[in-house]
Amino acid sequence: MTPFESLAAVVEGRVTTPGDAASTGRDWSALTRPWNVQIRQDDAVAVVDVASIADIQATVKFAAAKGITVTTQRSGHGATGKSAGTILLRTHNLDSLQIDPVTRRAHVGAGVLWGRLQAAAAEHGLSGTPGSSPGVGVVGFTVGGGLSWFSRKFGLAGAAVRSFEVVTADGGRRRVDSENEPELFWALRWTFCTRTRR
Ligand SMILES: Cc1cc2nc3c(=O)[nH]c(=O)nc-3n(C[C@H](O)[C@H](O)[C@H](O)COP(=O)(O)OP(=O)(O)OC[C@H]3O[C@@H](n4cnc5c(N)ncnc54)[C@H](O)[C@@H]3O)c2cc1C
Repeated sequence: MTPFESLAAVVEGRVTTPGDAASTGRDWSALTRPWNVQIRQDDAVAVVDVASIADIQATVKFAAAKGITVTTQRSGHGATGKSAGTILLRTHNLDSLQIDPVTRRAHVGAGVLWGRLQAAAAEHGLSGTPGSSPGVGVVGFTVGGGLSWFSRKFGLAGAAVRSFEVVTADGGRRRVDSENEPELFWALRWTFCTRTRR
């Protein structure tokens, strides 16, 4: 069994390597292509389309054991092309979305795009803090800056986050909020912003 076959054996989602794509007649370049089609990611070593948080944990642990980096993506709007030798971990299957109109909070899976969240919120007369594109991922947008149409009034999208469910680099699963892990909570919301301000 190859290393990636052993990963495939323990994840619910799909693991694809360039060799798998070739043997099944699929186009590896198309499979790894992000939203920004000028960026090539066909130098990745595998694509893991995760189906659960347990899949993310298994992938992160596998990558750590093998010394492979992991690039997490939903839409590929923020793709940088630094994919050489990495595992592309794609979150599109994590599409859970619940809106509580009473607390006016949304619980958003890592695969949810802004257009879907906005449509669901609108059914309750609510809105999130989206940016210019409905095709951007809610999580990537929020941890990557989150400059919304409504930022003048409500600030950056990170300011609206109440908690994260996170898989850390050791493959652990943590709930991160102002009570549990306050420093990591701060970092997830603001590291990008403080870094880009310098
Ligand atoms: C056309 C266009 C319009 C945009 N408009 C705006 C705007 O109005 N306001 C604004 O602030 N930004 C805007 N952006 C920038 C955009 O918000 C960022 O590129 C954002 O990171 C995209 O997130 P994504 O998940 O869709 O993209 P992806 O390329 O899939 O992800 C980008 C990065 O986000 C991180 N990420 C994504 N999902 C996860 C996850 N589940 N866990 C951990 N990390 C994750 C990873 O570091 C990943 O490399 C725009 C970009 C484009 C191309």
